[in-house]
Amino acid sequence: MLKLDKITKIYKTATLEVRALDGISLCFRKNEFVSILGPSGCGKTTTLNIVGGLDHYTSGDLIINNISTKRYGDHDWDIYRNHKIGFIFQAYNLIPHENILENVELALTIGGVKKEERIQRAKAALDKVGLAGMYTKKPNELSGGMQKRVSFARAIVTNPGIILYDEPTAGLDPVSSTVIEDYIVRLKEETNATSIVVTHQMSTITRTADKVPSIWISL
Ligand code: ADP
Ligand code: MG
Repeated sequence: MLKLDKITKIYKTATLEVRALDGISLCFRKNEFVSILGPSGCGKTTTLNIVGGLDHYTSGDLIINNISTKRYGDHDWDIYRNHKIGFIFQAYNLIPHENILENVELALTIGGVKKEERIQRAKAALDKVGLAGMYTKKPNELSGGMQKRVSFARAIVTNPGIILYDEPTAGLDPVSSTVIEDYIVRLKEETNATSIVVTHQMSTITRTADKVPSIWISL
């Protein structure tokens, strides 16, 4: 379904070149749950950004449903990102002056969904991550784990076929981490989306693997 074929990513700055990925090949099947483990700086976020179409590879190919993306234009990438991908960033990236319902709803405005349906779907997504009735709270009125769950709701509200988690438990205390891991498993079971979790924490991998059939790889 998703194939990285000898992907290389080189970041160029004024003074140096960083080879973040050097010919990585990976295959993700539909509805699979995959965890990727690796230390800081090994290229996890870069991999996820490329899989999610947020950044482009330098060479190689990302093959989506047997179609090469080598000739993808901006419009193709926009459609892929907006309709197929739910991205959970390491930083929550919530808008501080909007309440959490508005934050989640915003993900649907890009898709041209009408206001009434947007609200209904955003509420349903928040309910799914255990935030029913908290719709009018601002992000800073919630704990870190709750804000993380708002970002889960924002990612799933578009019904993506692929959910990408970048270090979902980083910076959370052990109890919040366990709650987050349970929601990752639950969302996998409810949405059946292909789920890819990158993390440097083995505990996140073992605890989710206890609950959902999964494979894990080490970068
Ligand atoms: P991880 O998520 O595993 O910590 P990253 O994918 O963020 O790793 O980074 C991989 C490597 O690429 C690191 O050496 C990092 O410093 C470098 N890198 C990441 N983003 C950029 C960027 N925008 N410009 C230059 N170098 C970058
Ligand atoms: Mg990272």
